[in-house]
Amino acid sequence: MGILDEDIQRIRDATDIVAVVSEHVQLKRVGRRFQGLCPFHSEKTPSFSVNQEAGLYYCFGCRASGDVITFVREVEKLDFVGAVEKLASRAGITLRYTDTGEHESRKHKAALYEAVERAVEWYHQRLLTAPDAAKARAYLRSRGFDGNDVRRYRIGWAPEGWDELARALRLPENVFVGSGLGFLNRQRRPTDAFRGRVVFPVFDTEGRAVGFGARILPGGQGPKYKNSAQSAIYDKSRLLYGLNWAKGEIVNADEAIVCEGYTDVIGFAKAGLPRAVATCGTALTGEHLRLLKSFARRVVLAFDADAAGQNAAERFYEWERQYEIDVAVAALPTGVDPSDLARDDPQALLRAVAEAEPFLGFRVNRVLATMPLSTPEQRARAAEAALDVVREHPSDLVRDQYLLDVAARTRIDPERLRERAARTRRAAGAKSGDRRADRAQLRQPGAPGGRDSIREGPEIEALRLLVCRPDEVRDWLFEELFGDDLSLAAYRALVETDGVRAAIERADPAAGELLRRIAVEESTAEPLDVVDLLLAEAGRRAITELEAEVRLADDPLAYSQTIAWLKLTIEDLQSEHPSVGSREQLLAWLTQQSEDEG
Ligand SMILES: [Zn+2]
Repeated sequence: MGILDEDIQRIRDATDIVAVVSEHVQLKRVGRRFQGLCPFHSEKTPSFSVNQEAGLYYCFGCRASGDVITFVREVEKLDFVGAVEKLASRAGITLRYTDTGEHESRKHKAALYEAVERAVEWYHQRLLTAPDAAKARAYLRSRGFDGNDVRRYRIGWAPEGWDELARALRLPENVFVGSGLGFLNRQRRPTDAFRGRVVFPVFDTEGRAVGFGARILPGGQGPKYKNSAQSAIYDKSRLLYGLNWAKGEIVNADEAIVCEGYTDVIGFAKAGLPRAVATCGTALTGEHLRLLKSFARRVVLAFDADAAGQNAAERFYEWERQYEIDVAVAALPTGVDPSDLARDDPQALLRAVAEAEPFLGFRVNRVLATMPLSTPEQRARAAEAALDVVREHPSDLVRDQYLLDVAARTRIDPERLRERAARTRRAAGAKSGDRRADRAQLRQPGAPGGRDSIREGPEIEALRLLVCRPDEVRDWLFEELFGDDLSLAAYRALVETDGVRAAIERADPAAGELLRRIAVEESTAEPLDVVDLLLAEAGRRAITELEAEVRLADDPLAYSQTIAWLKLTIEDLQSEHPSVGSREQLLAWLTQQSEDEG
């Protein structure tokens, strides 16, 4: 904070992200993007990608992402102002500050803290006493939380009205907006940020209220969680929910538990483990680990580690090395939140944490436990799969111990496994045999077109085209072509804004994450191939709906004629040479349907 937004924008415009990144990373042009070895995790094949026009980067290995300011912050370990100042002097831009100095900035922050504190109390009283909060109280009871929990964690209720908090607190505009409690609507009227949600106040390490995580009630409209916007006092990449209460216990136990949700943190405490913290609507970052490291040497992950394992392994190993911290994984039953387990079977939760395994051990066990081991062929296959996981660890001493373990459990001579591991490691270096490298290869611009170039389904490919070749595809796309909620949210953000950078800011966190990745990818697909596939999918969804309706219809014949026509059209669209007529007729029909509905 402190620097005029306008100047920050001037710096983004004046700075070539490729030039700045090139000072740290050797970049190579691949099609319209640039690629290189990621500076944020150790790797041998490039998975770090830069989109020069949009000024964004993304790593397919550790998912680090951002713009030129984020890059300078992360790579040179600066704060926001420091990074902006550095880029300003590089670009020869003189910065103008909003505050006349430190004093002003401290005064502004103090006003933000006070505003958030007042909001915490107002929401909290509302939950305890207001008639309109009855359903929120019922929801919390159903999750196993009683009045003591509500008071201890100062849980609140943000009512449905659009400006109830704004009218109750009557804050100056810059404080109301600057604290993330609300925004100005199109008529420039103060509007509450959270409406119809149970709110969990987030406190910083010193116990000052800085923001909120807000959960929709079951059956409500909108994303499940909404978090405070980034502000001068709320930096989600450095905040951990619950750390203010848990820090003493974390120091005593020399261990912190990291979970995903606000209710999980409370569940852990109720089950007798008051040393859990949660990220506030983001993935775990290096900053979080750096923060935890000052309290404990061991971190136990209590969330879906299978999902984490596939994407974040290298990042976890890197943190272990960089912060000298041990990362372990608690094996929770699949599909069960810690907070549910805390309510239904607290002993099982305690056991999972007590038996947490090192990250690599957890993943090796997962592989061996899910594969059959009764025949020599099966054991060989399982050993290979386990070796793939072991291979990612940067330490040869650690790798070798796990290799011995895999050898024993698959009854294979350890020497044979060592030879094999050495071979595959070399091969991985040479011909990049891992999944990420396959993706990197697919990003190479090859012969364009061909349906083989459509990856992860037509909806994602359409988004990719909309980012890198918008003019060729924009007119063919509309909302009904997106059946997946996440793709739809990303599509809306793209069409409602100008450019992918603005779309990322507009989108909810999940869609934003998807867009950050797509921003650095390319598409070699033929737009009309993608449109045909989307149309076919949308047509099939329509058929399913019609088939459900036909049973209740007065004139089933009309329905079956429509269904038959749809089937023929879809078949034609999927043939070698679809006719233009099929495409346009189906497009027209789908548009008509959506207009009829709403
Ligand atoms: Zn990376």
